[in-house]
Amino acid sequence: MIFTLKKGIMGGTFDPIHYGHLVTAEEVRDYFGLAEVVFVPSARPPHKIGQKVSDPEHRYLMAVLATVTNPYFQVSRVEIERPGPSYSIDTVRYFKDLWGEGTEVFFITGADAFSQISSWNNPEELLKLCTFVAASRPGYRLLGVENKYQERVRTIEVSALAISSSEIRWRVKRGESIKYLVPEAVENYIYKNELYRN
Ligand code: ATP
Ligand code: MG
Repeated sequence: MIFTLKKGIMGGTFDPIHYGHLVTAEEVRDYFGLAEVVFVPSARPPHKIGQKVSDPEHRYLMAVLATVTNPYFQVSRVEIERPGPSYSIDTVRYFKDLWGEGTEVFFITGADAFSQISSWNNPEELLKLCTFVAASRPGYRLLGVENKYQERVRTIEVSALAISSSEIRWRVKRGESIKYLVPEAVENYIYKNELYRN
């Protein structure tokens, strides 16, 4: 198979999207020469059942606000419109179909998410359909990944950014600053809509 184009998918809860997500996607895009990266907010993350997750429309809009300044970034509503649990395998199949045979699909994850891949729905097929990119901080080794998966995965060290959505939610709840952890428009959106206050 000769691929003519490379495109990336970055799935996540994005509650909220932050500079860790954005820097990772941009570094992966640049390094692998991706023509575009699509952020896919998960409507009903199967691994976050029982946890409180913000309305998908808020998470979608924050992703749009965060990505407007990057011409290579898009946000997709595919998981929001699809009923049932949001499985990455369904999303990858959807984009494979949309983009066609000639496009090599890169699925971008953080090393923490990637190390859980054996618990995802149908990891074998997922790894056949796309190239996985596991992004880690310099010095961080990919632990707990079975060898059979490791072969199909590209790893990349991304500039150290210890930002997480959980940390941002806690900070908002405690009334602490989140300036420079998320784009300004996302920060304003969080306050305007009183997210993460309780
Ligand atoms: P939470 O703290 O609620 O779990 P999160 O910050 O991990 O949120 P998610 O939406 O769960 O964000 O993550 C989406 C994807 O982004 C996952 O693949 C995750 O590994 C990756 N990711 C999250 N934070 C970072 C970061 N700081 N650097 C690189 N990748 C990240
Ligand atoms: Mg996470």
